Amino acid sequence: MLQFSDEHEAFRTVVRDFARRELAPHVDRWEARGELPIEAVEAMAGLGLFGLVFPEEWGGAGGDFTSLCIAIEEIGRVNQSLGITLSAGVGLGANPVHSFGTDEQKARWLPDLVAGRRLGAFGLTEPDAGSDAGGTRTRARFDDDTDEWVLDGSKAFITNAGTPITSLVTVTALTGTGEISSFLVPAGTPGMVIEPAYRKLGWHASDTHGITLVDCRVPAANMLGAQGSGLRNFLAILDDGRIAISALALGCAQACLQLAVEHAKERHAFGGPIGRFQGIAFQLADLAVAVENSRHLTYTAAWLKDHGKPFRQAASMAKLYSTETAVDATRVATQVFGGAGFIEDSPVARFYRDAKILEIGEGTSEIQRLVIARGLGLPVG
Ligand SMILES: Cc1cc2nc3c(=O)[nH]c(=O)nc-3n(C[C@H](O)[C@H](O)[C@H](O)COP(=O)(O)OP(=O)(O)OC[C@H]3O[C@@H](n4cnc5c(N)ncnc54)[C@H](O)[C@@H]3O)c2cc1C
Repeated sequence: MLQFSDEHEAFRTVVRDFARRELAPHVDRWEARGELPIEAVEAMAGLGLFGLVFPEEWGGAGGDFTSLCIAIEEIGRVNQSLGITLSAGVGLGANPVHSFGTDEQKARWLPDLVAGRRLGAFGLTEPDAGSDAGGTRTRARFDDDTDEWVLDGSKAFITNAGTPITSLVTVTALTGTGEISSFLVPAGTPGMVIEPAYRKLGWHASDTHGITLVDCRVPAANMLGAQGSGLRNFLAILDDGRIAISALALGCAQACLQLAVEHAKERHAFGGPIGRFQGIAFQLADLAVAVENSRHLTYTAAWLKDHGKPFRQAASMAKLYSTETAVDATRVATQVFGGAGFIEDSPVARFYRDAKILEIGEGTSEIQRLVIARGLGLPVG
């Protein structure tokens, strides 16, 4: 049976109260503004959420991954845009530096990222290389005269790349035929053009940009990890990220279940609450089972990671199931709300728009099925 420690339960209460008190009242305004609210990042940073999993040496709390998932789930219950901002800030911004950086790189970047004063971004996807990340076309050539790497290419859909507090973007690039390395590119580096923010279906209060790299020069010391290890390292980062996205999806599904159940009790039609119709009640019963399954898969994957056990398969299973459950949950909740569910100021309408990306980002559902099938030993291509 899934059981959380007293510390985890107490932490969940703290984050839940924080999210309801400090974030929920402003969410509609932030979403309507259509950009990342820095004041929300500062509030989450004030609670220490960006530093949960990092060692005290860098200003973190030295906590476990389970705690991070609890935080992402609870923030995600209130607002998915802020949930992904936290998830990406920790998992895609700071984690690559912490996992693969040199002491100098860590000392330069981690204190601000761990404190949540600055955000880092992770540039893997390209216009012509998403699921097939090995198809990276961005190139890095070494300039012997200046001892610099020169980057040329483009990246697509990069979270937290263009905020006023973004300090760096980590990008993958070819350093030889079939050899992918990764580089730390400080924000504001000449030649790194942050394109205008995308207009997205959902996640309106999160930051997403394309990036163009033209003769963009970084010192040799900005290579992250060993030359040629870029793709392998980035894919390892995504294994963690998939558990985090599963937690975010769980928050979405849990919120929709709760909203729909409350509405089904309160909304009357044909002389009584709509929740007395089996057509409504059974959908919500099925949803409750799926949410519970998502919770188990998410926190089992987190537990495996926290205990140093292999977790790639579990992370993919959690991400696949929880994100598909979240999409189902938004569809059911919107239906239960009827016309009100289609109106912007209803939270279920926002969750409906926000959920779809969960099945796409950090590896689509198809890619999760590929990973799981390969884990079964199937020779799937
Ligand atoms: C809002 C948002 C934020 C994002 N943030 C980031 C970020 O911070 N950093 C980053 O690097 N990327 C980011 N991404 C990119 C995201 O990870 C990719 O969009 C995703 O991995 C899919 O890649 P793609 O869009 O190129 O789709 P494609 O790879 O072109 O896939 C198109 C379709 O083909 C399917 N497909 C592809 N290959 C196979 C296969 N082998 N078998 C079966 N089906 C297959 C896919 O599942 C999908 O349904 C973000 C995207 C969005 C929309």
